[in-house]
Amino acid sequence: MKMRKKIIAGNWKMNKTAEDSKELAQAIKLDLANVNEVDVVVCPTFTSLDTVSNVIGDTNIKLGAQNMHWEAEGAYTGEISASMLRNLYCHYVILGHSERREYFGETDEIVNKKAKAAIAAGLIPIVCVGETLEERESNTQEAVVSAQLKGSLAGLGASLAKVVVAYEPVWAIGTGLTASPEQAQEMHAFIRKTLAEISDQATADGIRIQYGGSMKPENAAELLSQPDIDGGLIGGAALKAPSFVALVKAAIEA
Ligand code: PEP
Repeated sequence: MKMRKKIIAGNWKMNKTAEDSKELAQAIKLDLANVNEVDVVVCPTFTSLDTVSNVIGDTNIKLGAQNMHWEAEGAYTGEISASMLRNLYCHYVILGHSERREYFGETDEIVNKKAKAAIAAGLIPIVCVGETLEERESNTQEAVVSAQLKGSLAGLGASLAKVVVAYEPVWAIGTGLTASPEQAQEMHAFIRKTLAEISDQATADGIRIQYGGSMKPENAAELLSQPDIDGGLIGGAALKAPSFVALVKAAIEA
């Protein structure tokens, strides 16, 4: 089985001005500038990308965006393209976060177009999937996640190997509820099995699958030590340097 390097990414969502972002990035940099056992990513708002990019410079902390448009340029008021993100030294982009799916009508088809455009521009997409509480209660989580994966990752060919998948049960995001390590592991193994169906076993074995949903220093070690959990996509606990740093350390030790 392939060794997968763990990846911890902070999703700052619609929080922090450029000035606040600078402060947080500086604090994170103090502790994490040279970490190389784990990939560390911070995803501020569009308006803070340039500032944070300048703070992290060529340290081992990488920059990510929270969204992008699939077209390269043109009359798409309010949108940002993949090449604009690359130009600010972004390495990653979060795609299909459940908040974008729920509040902004993002479908698997849209996520798929974005994933293709991201890869073409040299960005690594972090593609989010996950079921709602209602779907879990009706025991349809596997069907839901399988459809999301097959739709969002269709037609990527060999580039699929570059993608990071984030399993984020919607009922655990920002709620304080966390999937148990067993529940999370079960879904991560299912996701890997589905990825093997889309591609092949060797590719699926190399793809990193993050868990997201109220991950914090207190529950990280147990989640991150599961065999198919290769890191975390972190919301709330990424907004303060001490908890984000603690999560990266937990990933190093896991
Ligand atoms: C997220 O939105 O990606 C997330 C996991 O949020 P939180 O950690 O706050 O649940």
